[in-house]
Amino acid sequence: MPDKPSPTLRLAIDKDALAHNWRALDRMSGAANAGAAVKADCYGLGVDSCVPVLRDAGAKQFFVAHWSEVEAVARHVPAASISVLHGTVKPDDATFARATGVIPIINSLHQAQVWLEAGGGPCHLMVDTGINRLGLSMHEVGDPLIGHLEIDVLMSHLACADEDSAMNGEQLAAFRAIIPTVRHKSVSFANSAGIALGSDYHFDLTRPGLSLYGGIPRAELEGEIRQVAMPQAAIIQTRRLAAGDRVGYNATFTASSAMPVGVVSLGYADGFLRSWAGGHLLHGNAALPILGKVSMDMIVVDLSQAPDLREGDWVDVPYFLPDAAQQTSLGQYELLTILGSRLKAR
Ligand SMILES: *Cc1c(COP(=O)(O)O)cnc(C)c1O
Repeated sequence: MPDKPSPTLRLAIDKDALAHNWRALDRMSGAANAGAAVKADCYGLGVDSCVPVLRDAGAKQFFVAHWSEVEAVARHVPAASISVLHGTVKPDDATFARATGVIPIINSLHQAQVWLEAGGGPCHLMVDTGINRLGLSMHEVGDPLIGHLEIDVLMSHLACADEDSAMNGEQLAAFRAIIPTVRHKSVSFANSAGIALGSDYHFDLTRPGLSLYGGIPRAELEGEIRQVAMPQAAIIQTRRLAAGDRVGYNATFTASSAMPVGVVSLGYADGFLRSWAGGHLLHGNAALPILGKVSMDMIVVDLSQAPDLREGDWVDVPYFLPDAAQQTSLGQYELLTILGSRLKAR
């Protein structure tokens, strides 16, 4: 094939903002070091774009969910700095961990058994202190199998760190009671929002994800965290509507007067869901209201505020996550991880 034409859709990543966010979260973690959750392709933003930046900023521990995610991350950082949150569900997970030096996070007695039967070695241990998702139950921590593990990081995970919930303190107390009963080298508790809960929650290692990528789950992080992901799309056609003309599937918008509009190369297949209806794109400070429904591969916007825009010109998606979440009723996590592959095509 000849060289591909340049795309009409792209995801700009502000690498300075990403490095700034890691450093801010590391500083807010006090005496603890900040690691980096890089699962789900760095929350949708791309391992190859983000992991080298996080590594160069100073991150030394990287968390993925699936074993399938290891290879891409290991191109940029040492295998022993990567750990896998889903743990050793099957013997081949443990075989892979031992062959690569990647660290499994053990979540259950079954996983401990699988790891030890494969020969064991350094691992992390996740204890469930109330989220009832992954993690060893507190009453299982005294099991002899756990005594045989070579535990590097003892960890737990907060359920409600983005809220002022009594559960945060309850989980902290439960975790504190467990810590002296398990042999370990270091302790980790806080995700992004947990970092903002204060020094009681920091221990030795924090595990931010969302806020590295621009998410702001708590007010304390406002002003500290910068936008990282900036989707942009090109106008692929302009046209002029007359009063009474309708736009898009099911003709849900009718022009009340003549207006210039642009067809923009971005749709729900790119993660720009129909819940953006009623929102706008941006050209500089000019708002370009979205007209009618979002289609699979395009949207139509009102160019009245930027009548000089031409076919081929780029416009911005307003992706400051707290605002975008309010606009769409989607979560900040969802807004990141939903971004489609065409945005990242080169
Ligand atoms: C995803 C994840 C994190 C990161 O959480 P954020 O809320 O994105 O900062 C930390 N710890 C565990 C166990 C996770 O699964």
